[in-house]
This record gives sequence, structure tokens and C-alpha cells, in this order.
Amino acid sequence: MSLALIAEGFCGRRPERILPAACPLRERYDVIIIGGGGHGLATAYYLAKDHGIRNVAVLEKGYLGGGNTGRNTAIVRSNYLTAEGVAFYAESVSLFQSLSNELDFNIMYSERGHLTLAHTDAAIRTARWRAEVNKHLGVRSELIDPPEIARLCPQLNLSSKARYPILGALYHPPGAIARHDAVAWGYAAAAARLGVELHPETEVTGVVKQGNRAIGVETNRGTVHAGAILQAVAGSSSRVAAMLDLRLPIRTIPLQACVSQPLKPFLDPIIVSGSLHIYVSQSTRGELVMGGATDPYPLYSSRSTLEFKEGLMSHMLELFPFLAGVKVMRQWAGLADMTPDFSPVMGLTPVENYFIDAGWGTWGFKATPVCGKRLAETIATGKPPSLIAPFALDRFADFVQIGERGAASVGH
Ligand SMILES: Cc1cc2nc3c(=O)[nH]c(=O)nc-3n(C[C@H](O)[C@H](O)[C@H](O)COP(=O)(O)OP(=O)(O)OC[C@H]3O[C@@H](n4cnc5c(N)ncnc54)[C@H](O)[C@@H]3O)c2cc1C
Repeated sequence: MSLALIAEGFCGRRPERILPAACPLRERYDVIIIGGGGHGLATAYYLAKDHGIRNVAVLEKGYLGGGNTGRNTAIVRSNYLTAEGVAFYAESVSLFQSLSNELDFNIMYSERGHLTLAHTDAAIRTARWRAEVNKHLGVRSELIDPPEIARLCPQLNLSSKARYPILGALYHPPGAIARHDAVAWGYAAAAARLGVELHPETEVTGVVKQGNRAIGVETNRGTVHAGAILQAVAGSSSRVAAMLDLRLPIRTIPLQACVSQPLKPFLDPIIVSGSLHIYVSQSTRGELVMGGATDPYPLYSSRSTLEFKEGLMSHMLELFPFLAGVKVMRQWAGLADMTPDFSPVMGLTPVENYFIDAGWGTWGFKATPVCGKRLAETIATGKPPSLIAPFALDRFADFVQIGERGAASVGH
């Protein structure tokens, strides 16, 4: 240990706090946000920054960013299948690209390129379809052949003798990864600087209504009133909505992931194989961040299973046989709120003054900035902007779903 470090330890200086210290809950706020994940924190930030609405409280039952925001595999992309989906996620990618500067917080955004491998003729057809929709909407995506894949990722097993040989890939150059905790902390710190109150360990246990109007929430720290309320509780959406007798078209299913021991950098692009049900990227710390399909049945539990790890690894070794001796370092799970059309639910609800941000399944991290920005606009103006209007809750009653299953990373 250097002398300078020892001297620093004795001088009594403490690093500046990223987040403000706890404060008492007030009796009323203009806006209450239930859920201190990336989406809730981003919405609070844009309410204050874009609309001058600063009397805002974010109520989080655990610690900020401790839900799915801190559990995902941090992939950002906009190569979706529907016009609505592509336009929505494209705005998010564009916000992500300048987010470190905007928040004055390094979110370690790293543009790697995203390869969705196709092992069957059907997968090639879907890749071509996605590439054409993407290009039409100004998003960079193209179908590439094995020699081009080999150029971008020479480590991949491209042998024609593999069990499922790789026939082509959808290549999406803007595909990226980011440090997911930093996204939550960056939004939290920037929102707090603008006057937003952050309340960890504050669980919402009920919603107070007057007729059909939401006017406040009950919490483990007492009742708080609000002009408007947003629920942004991915993984708990149905449970919180049930407090208002709102039924959502959502099934909650665990989604697992794991990381390997750190390795020297060798994998630049993000690799996804829908047929093998796996995806992998290498983090800036050198760990391989790996995930796959959701668990086979709905459950409110974040336990990890050996089955998941065994299945994932057998397929990983088909793509990268030389990783056979590498150890898995950590494994965990989050909760995916799956909708029937694999698209989110955002905007108004049948209850006045109660807004929703739900149905984020396996795809919500990449939407954090756009969701925050556009939901803040919805709350401030009372009207969902055109970018998120198609994702309204009532689309399920009106049979106008936005089918994005074909653009999910892996089959679920
Ligand atoms: C293993 C895994 C991998 C994933 N990989 C990706 C990926 O690569 N790319 C991608 O785009 N998406 C991915 N996702 C999905 C993504 O993580 C989520 O969609 C996203 O994080 C949702 O963010 P959020 O802020 O809405 O929710 P969360 O971060 O879950 O925040 C919701 C918060 O609400 C709180 N809460 C719940 N109930 C209450 C209550 N009653 N009172 C107060 N607070 C409450 C929770 O504690 C939680 O902190 C993945 C998810 C998992 C689990």
C-alpha cells in the first residue's frame, strides 16, 4: 500500500455522497412514483428537468436500483420487428448515447455491435424481415453471411459440422452494453440535485382513492397524498395494480443470468442465438455476462437453479468450445412481467391520476431513458405522446397488440 494512500486514510476526508441522506416523508407531493428502479428514477428526473415538476417523491420498498435494474444483462438495442417498437427503442438508444454527459455520471456505455445468429431458414427470414423494417425506419441493421460474421467475431464456432451450424446473422452496429447500476445511480443523483426526494425502504401497501381518482398511497411509513401517481414496479406490476383492483394481462416469470470469472478481453460484439436460447457479452471488467430463456413457469421467486446453468453452458460451449474450463462466478434471477405480445404497457389507466409503466418482461433496461422521458411528458400533460400511445393498456381490450415476440433475444 502506498504512503499516499495511508495518509489519505488518516486525513478524515470522505468521498462526496452520490445520493442525499434520508429525509422525512412529507404529507403531499405533486407526483409520487412507486418503484425506485431505473424507470421510476428516470421519470422523476425528466419530470423535474423537462417540466419543472420538482415536488416529486420516489418510493422504493428496498434499495434504489435493487430490482430488475440491478439484475439485468444490460443490453441496449433497437433492432425490433414492429414500426412502433423500432421507433420507441431507437429514441432510447439515442438518449443512452449521450446519457453520461447529460447526467454527469459515467454509465460506462460501450457500443459493441449486436449479432443475432440464425441457424435455420426460418431464422434467416425473420432476420431479413427485421433488417428491412429497421432500415426503413433509419435504424442500422443488416443480414450478414458467415464470412462477415467471422470477421466481426473470429472466436465463434462457424464450422458447418456444428450441431446447429450458423447460416447468417442480423447485425445491428449500435447494439451496446452499459453499467446498469450506474444508470440508476446517475438518474437518482441528477433527480435529487433538481429537488426530487428519494425514499428507499418505503413500501407502498395500498392506494387511496376518492371515487375513481387516485389521491395518495399508504406506505409502511404512513399515508402520503399526491396530485398524480405512477407505478413503475417491474416484476410486481400485477401485485401493485391489484391494490386498485386493476387486472393486468401479465404473467410474472423468473429470468436468470450469470457471469463467468474475468477473462482477458476477447469478445467485442454481443452474441445472441435464439435457437440455442443464449446470449453473451463481455463486460468491461472481463466477465462473460450470460443469459437465456425465462424459467418454464410463472413464480414470484428470485432463486437460481442448476438446470438453468447446465442448459445455458452446454449451448455456450457449442458456440465457444474453448471456454470449457472457465468458471461461473455468480448466478442470480429477477422477475419478468411478460405480456401476451412481448411489448410494454405505458400510459393512462382506468383510474384517474394513476399512470402505469409495466410489462417490461426481459426487454426494459434498454427502454429506461425513453420511458422516463415520455412518461414524464404523459404525467405533465395528461396525454401520452405519439411515441408511447400505441403501448396503452387498453390495446388488449381493443385487439391492437404490438407483436414483438420475433424480436425477443431468445425464445421464451
Ligand atoms: C436476468 C435479467 C436479464 C435482463 N436483461 C435485459 C437486457 O439485457 N436488456 C434489457 O433491455 N432488459 C433486460 N432485462 C429486463 C430489465 O431488467 C427490466 O425490464 C427493467 O430493469 C425494468 O426496470 P424498472 O425500473 O421498471 O424495474 P425495477 O428495476 O424492477 O424497479 C422496480 C422497483 O419497484 C420496487 N417495488 C416493487 N413493489 C413495490 C412497492 N409495493 N412499493 C415500493 N416499491 C416497490 C422494487 O423493489 C424495484 O426496485 C433483464 C431482466 C432480468 C431479470
